[in-house]
Amino acid sequence: MHCPFCQHADTRVLDSRVSEDGATIRRRRGCEACGERFSTLETIELKLPAIIKSDDRREAFDARKLRAGFDRALQKRPVSDEQVEAAVRAVVHAVRMSGERELPSRRVGEFVMEQLRKLDHVGYVRFASVYRSFEDVADFREELDRLEREVPGEGQLPLLDGEPAAAARGPERPRRR
Ligand SMILES: [Zn+2]
Repeated sequence: MHCPFCQHADTRVLDSRVSEDGATIRRRRGCEACGERFSTLETIELKLPAIIKSDDRREAFDARKLRAGFDRALQKRPVSDEQVEAAVRAVVHAVRMSGERELPSRRVGEFVMEQLRKLDHVGYVRFASVYRSFEDVADFREELDRLEREVPGEGQLPLLDGEPAAAARGPERPRRR
């Protein structure tokens, strides 16, 4: 860390102290060039990035909205509450680990799709067909074919069972039930 007094490129840590609650570390630093001393405070950063919407507006990340998205995609699917909660946590973790200050909503959508693919293929297709703007129907077909080649997870139904409409119509909004 550079010296705030003389802008010397380097300073030395003289002393580090963890706060009583363990949440911060205070470091005393000294500059070898000008001899000044100062301290820095290190805290845990838990802030989630702001989400950049497709129309370029920013909005605070909202885990409840995320949960609602999962619930919509997994409506009437054999997926437990615990599994959904774990998937939501995984997405929040991925968003946090992105290390970005702002994250396009599209990226969050990709994290969600990653989780849905593991959880339930029907839910995945529902979400993907609404969320992702597939370039054209061919792209969507390719994605479906790729999924079908993968060995379905335990308890997963064949991909297109009960969803003929979504497959036939391509990247359109699936029918609400
Ligand atoms: Zn200095």
